[in-house]
Parts: sequence; structure tokens; C-alpha cells
Amino acid sequence: MISDALKASTGKVIKMENQFYVDSDHLSKEALARKHQLETDASSRTNHMEYLPGMEQIQSDIRERVMSQTEQYDYTVYTSADVSAALEHEQCSIEDFKALLSPAAGPFLEQMAQRARVETRKHFGNTVYLFTPLYIANYCENYCVYCGFNCYNHIKRMRLTMEQIEHEMKIIADSGMEEILLLTGESRGMSDVSYIGEACKLARKYFRMVGLEIYPVNTDEYRYLHECGADYVTVFQETYDSDKYETLHLAGHKRVWPYRFEAQERALMGGMRGVAFSALLGLSDFRKDALATALHAYFLQRKYPQAEISLSCPRLRPIVNNDKINPLDVHEKQLCQIICAYRIFLPFAGITVSSRESAEFRNGIIKIAATKVSAGVSTGIGDHESKYTGKESGSAEGDEQFEINDRRSFETMYQDIESEGLQPVLNDYLYV
Ligand code: SF4
Repeated sequence: MISDALKASTGKVIKMENQFYVDSDHLSKEALARKHQLETDASSRTNHMEYLPGMEQIQSDIRERVMSQTEQYDYTVYTSADVSAALEHEQCSIEDFKALLSPAAGPFLEQMAQRARVETRKHFGNTVYLFTPLYIANYCENYCVYCGFNCYNHIKRMRLTMEQIEHEMKIIADSGMEEILLLTGESRGMSDVSYIGEACKLARKYFRMVGLEIYPVNTDEYRYLHECGADYVTVFQETYDSDKYETLHLAGHKRVWPYRFEAQERALMGGMRGVAFSALLGLSDFRKDALATALHAYFLQRKYPQAEISLSCPRLRPIVNNDKINPLDVHEKQLCQIICAYRIFLPFAGITVSSRESAEFRNGIIKIAATKVSAGVSTGIGDHESKYTGKESGSAEGDEQFEINDRRSFETMYQDIESEGLQPVLNDYLYV
């Protein structure tokens, strides 16, 4: 069934060859007026702190603990003496971590990298995990102003059939890859939980590890998806600054900030083995967002000690001369500082660096702190055949969500990791 929300937000949905497309060239007048109103009149937007009907509310103090630390964090008060002391401590406290994220730690990047490297080797040896994402749909009912997939944008929308998904999976599995991350846009109407569950069952046939990056769901739905074969769940909070969040997520269920915040906990309550956290660094104050991301993982790990925890580190790329507009842009140096601080504070956590970053940066950071990288990446829909084998796919392809920077194939990435003296790992888990 085509989602009413999608229809209402975009005006027109058309069906061709068993696929649905949003005809955004012909957004209805009402939809355009609504978009304009959402952008210009804050009072027309819903309360982003209020749960929508059907959204589960759990009893948890983690949000309060993360946010009280984050709100109090004044990174300008830390000195080089605080940073030196943090690097000397055997165990990195929350206070030490705050110092390592502060501007005072900038000149200590070399020492931070050395310490991070020691921690990484202690907990992960010289391994680097490889995975690839598979976008199975790109419908979205949300209006995130920074994203090309948002419901008002003119892109080619698709949802793969189960046959198409299996075809894509076979091609990826034939390359040797053993871990897959399934992604959809955020549309319950167009990619409902049972559709995602069926995709998980297929993925379980071809891969040993199955991750999900989908819209947040309730505990019972996470339990169902886990039973279908999903091992872990990634949810990007985008920014932990709820006031800023409100101005960037103007419509759709994603607008509800606390429901998103609690997604990882619901996933663990539903039986998932692992959860991943992230802020899109650069949307708001990146030091506070990095602090909140790591504390979110830290407090959840203490409450659910069995959980496999990991962090991702995407950033908005700074643009030329943007320093005056946004002095808090995240350049590679700051990204490296954040990743090293993550590693020192959470030595056991996986750290993923995606193909949004350059090959040079990823080659460097896997020697220091990152433990997982994607390879053979396509952010389009249904295009693995053409990208992996050079053959025409024979079916329609959906548009890509964003430009990737590191286009290395799985084989090239594997060889490059080996040539850095590291060990590429495809899987470390067996179901018995
Ligand atoms: S960021 Fe995600 S939820 Fe927001 S518009 Fe893009 S695909 Fe949709």
C-alpha cells in the first residue's frame, strides 16, 4: 500500500513496471505551500519532543544522563595540563574524555594517535572488518533539510522486489563479502517491517552478519527483525542538540527526537546483538555531539554489558570559505581528534569510517583507531550488477543518496588493508 504520508507530503506517486516513483516535478500546490510553511514558520511544525501515536515509550534514564553531561560541557575551560593528565591516566574517565575532545587537545594529536593505536591493538589486534551496504529502497517520508532523499526532492524512488534483492545479494556474496548492511529510506508505508524482515531472511542465506539501518521501530518489531536474521542496528541521531534538530527535521516521524534517541535501547531489548551510534558531525557543535554520541554508547553498554557497541563518524564536509559561517566545521584534523578520543574513552567499541571519507584518510585511520570500513559501496538502488560486473542490470535503478569519496572495490580494499600490514576480517561470528 502506498503510504498516505508519502502521498500527502509529495503530492503524486506513480507506478511503473511494478515500482513506485514519486513524481516530484509535479508536487501539488498544497505540498509546495506546506514545504514553504514548514521552512519559514516554526509554529507550523509539530512538537519534536512529543511521541506520535504508536511510538513506544520506554522507562530509561540514559537520555537524561547523556544530556545533562552534554549541556554542562564547556570545552573552552580545558587546558593542555588537563589533556596531558588525561593521556597519562590508565583509564579514561568522562572528564578525561571531555578534555580530549576540547580545542586544548588539538596540539596533542600525535600523542592521542599513539595512545589510540595501543588501545586498538590491545582490543582488536591488527584486524579491520569489511562490510558493504545494500540500499533496498529509497522512499522517505521525512523532510530532513540536508538530505537528498528527503520527501520533497526530485529523485528516482525505488523499492526492490525480493527477487531483485536476492539478485543483488548473490552478486555481493560472490565477491566474497560476508557482512551486509541493509538500508532503506525512512518510509514505513513503502518499506514496512515485514518487507524488511523478508529481506533479512534472504540476507541470512548469503551473509554471516546482517546489519540494519532503517527507521527506528518498537521493541517487538526489533525482536521480529532479529528473528528474521538481523544482528545489529545502526541509528544516526544526526545531532544531540534537540533545538538544532528541530530546525533540520521539519516533518515526518524522524522529527520525534526522543523516540530516535531510544532506538538502540529498544533494539537491545528486542534481542539485537549489537547497536551503532552516530551524530552527523558538523550539523551542530561537533564537540558536544561527539561527547553525547560516546556517552550514549557508554551508558548503554553499562546497562547492557552483553551488547556489541560501535560508533560511526560521518561529517558534513566543510566548504571553501565556510569558516566564517561555521567556525565549527569538522576538518580531517578534528575528525581524527574525535576518532582518537572515542578510541581512548571506549577502547572496546568498534569504530566505522565510511566511504564518504577519502581513501588516504581511511588508510591512515585504520592504522590508528578505526576497526571497520565499507567497501564496494553503492548508495544507489539496484545497481550492484552494473557496478560489480560492468553488465547492464536490466532493471531500473534508483538515485544515489550522496556522493561517496572512496570508490574502492572489495578486492582492492582487501589488498590495501593487507599491504598496510593489517588483517582484513570478513566475519568473526558463527551461529551454532
Ligand atoms: S536523512 Fe534519512 S530520514 Fe532524512 S530525508 Fe534522508 S533518508 Fe530520509
